[in-house]
Amino acid sequence: MVLGNFSVIDAHCHIYPEKIAAKAVAGTDRFYDTVAKCRGTVADLISVGTEAGVDHMIVQSVATTPKQVTGINEFIAATVAESAGRMTGLGTLHPDSEDLAGDVRRILSLGLKGVKLHPDIQAFKIDDYRFLKIYELCEQEGLPILMHTGDSRYDYSNPNRLLPVMQIFTGLTVIGAHMGGWSLWENAVEELSPLPNLYVDCSSSLPYMTKEAAVRVMRRYGTHRVLFGTDYPMWDPREELESFLSLDLTDTERADILSRNAQRLFSISLK
Ligand SMILES: [Zn+2]
Repeated sequence: MVLGNFSVIDAHCHIYPEKIAAKAVAGTDRFYDTVAKCRGTVADLISVGTEAGVDHMIVQSVATTPKQVTGINEFIAATVAESAGRMTGLGTLHPDSEDLAGDVRRILSLGLKGVKLHPDIQAFKIDDYRFLKIYELCEQEGLPILMHTGDSRYDYSNPNRLLPVMQIFTGLTVIGAHMGGWSLWENAVEELSPLPNLYVDCSSSLPYMTKEAAVRVMRRYGTHRVLFGTDYPMWDPREELESFLSLDLTDTERADILSRNAQRLFSISLK
């Protein structure tokens, strides 16, 4: 693999505390009927990420109950604090929380730079009224949302539910994970690409798309709006980076997707 002078930010990494990582990864494997390639611990992410040539990692975890929110946000913040500047953290929110405004204040005070939402795992449709308060607060505070989008088995995260949300919350920035809609790539790009505050990441998409389709979809969004991400631990950063580098993109497009777009969006300065 020739990484040359490219800096790399992995914009989509899931991590779990050591004690529960095996169980959490097994749960995701069951949900997606997959076998994760990596372990899901912080030490493993740093080790395989470093070996792959990843300079910086954006880490997150998803609360499936309101009770988990505080613990997860504190774990992510503590991990970032110990990463010597190599990680940026996203917080989690749960729409059933009784104090969403308080949860958002805590995310800000912990120094987390955005919010990860997963409608399929959290079992809420993107345009469910219970999510609206979250959009309002994130828009107000300038917190970008990394939104899982697309699953051929469920309708919760269908990208066509994101369209009206972003038309209403015009100041909200959303990163549509998995190229704007896993398994629905062509529909998603058709509907979502006109939205000015929409970004996408390429995580969990490259293994399922032809190289030509991946390049075409990235260019239709605009390569200044695509972030490289691996969905660690589901995929191995070494293999994902290799398959990204095999795409027929220009060096400018590669540099943008591999790090410049994420640096700009999350104000990351690479060490
Ligand atoms: Zn994710």
